[in-house]
Amino acid sequence: MPEFFNVFAPDVALRTLLDRLQRRVETTIVPTHQALGRVTAEVVLAPEYLPAFPRSTMDGYAVRARDTFGASESLPAYLEVVGEVRMGQAPDITLATGQATVAYTGGMLANSADAVVMVEHTQKIDATSIEVLRPAAPGENVVQVGEDVRIGEVIVPAGSLLRPQDIGGLLALGITQVKVRCRPRVAIVSTGDEIVSPDIAPTPGQIRDINTYTIAALVEQAGGVPMPMGVVKDDYEAQRQMAVEGLAQADMLIFSAGSSVSSRDMTVQVLHSLGPPGVLVHGIAHRPGKPTIIALIEDKPAFGLPGNPVSAMIVFRLLVRPTLYALTGCTQVPQPKTVQARLTKNIPSLTGREDHVQVRLSYADGELHAEPVFGKSNLIYTLIRADGVVVVPLDQGGLYAGTEVPVQLYD
Ligand code: AMP
Ligand code: MG
Repeated sequence: MPEFFNVFAPDVALRTLLDRLQRRVETTIVPTHQALGRVTAEVVLAPEYLPAFPRSTMDGYAVRARDTFGASESLPAYLEVVGEVRMGQAPDITLATGQATVAYTGGMLANSADAVVMVEHTQKIDATSIEVLRPAAPGENVVQVGEDVRIGEVIVPAGSLLRPQDIGGLLALGITQVKVRCRPRVAIVSTGDEIVSPDIAPTPGQIRDINTYTIAALVEQAGGVPMPMGVVKDDYEAQRQMAVEGLAQADMLIFSAGSSVSSRDMTVQVLHSLGPPGVLVHGIAHRPGKPTIIALIEDKPAFGLPGNPVSAMIVFRLLVRPTLYALTGCTQVPQPKTVQARLTKNIPSLTGREDHVQVRLSYADGELHAEPVFGKSNLIYTLIRADGVVVVPLDQGGLYAGTEVPVQLYD
């Protein structure tokens, strides 16, 4: 039996890889309206002011604020309505003292108007005059030129993950194309003599391949392109061949199973044989997922994930996902949403090991309760039935029932 792991704390394991990872995926130009979830490859500066002209924020009347000073319900200001400024058009009216124009939300103001009085604060006297019942301050109900964005301002830094509002903001400024990183390609190799494709009826002792598909789905969710390579037997040459093929086509390689230290586990030798610097980490101080391998082959990251489907998914979130984002130069990796909940049972752990425990949430007595789902670790349905995960940090021996803890929700 070979020597067991020199285990790394999960964050140290990840740092060990990311500190050496130079590789960034190529860049490409995409239409802005198709750029949701993409990572920007360069900073984007505002090419113009937004708004480009002063706009009313209300339906009402454009006025010269000083004509309304001192106005009140008992002593209103009388103004002559000399026309309107239509939506989508520039004003052709200049206000003289005591004059107003009809203004619409989002429309321009008449020349020399500096405020808008809301319709609700006026009373119509006849077709061409109104009473203003409250004073308007200069600038009231008006957005000024450049109040949203100033010309030359950074609107999207490099390495941003584009959200729906970013797409709106770019298009508002006429930026219809954006330079983004290509989606990282991830080769996925599923290993194990017992593993068969899900469309084959397994004979006793065989099991259907779960990991190819859960890992592919996680890759997609993190903005990558999964490249499933198929199932390969516990045979060194066959595995090595598939690893070489996968690496040639992809930015990252993921091996499922065979990551431990028995004589049947050869992922570590395969990954180490592919090129320098090779295996950086074998074993993390984490449950589930201790038998995890992290390697760097030339400038491409490679992982050996445990075969247990629950462990594989949890380690993916812990280590693979941040690495996938690192390949795109993304500076803000999306964090899982968390809620606070009260533990209903003790969670035992060990100091020096980080635990991820599935929990189910329920609402009782006006607060959220988190019920640990212990179950045996290789049951995929423990994940399906759970709402999220509670992390017992490395330096803690466990968590007591009754403690309020953050629960990371699955998305
Ligand atoms: P291993 O990491 O090879 O020791 O495998 C651990 C457990 O995960 C074993 O019960 C395997 O049968 C199971 N396993 C390995 N690969 C897969 C897979 N692709 N899908 C589902 N279960 C798997
Ligand atoms: Mg195996």
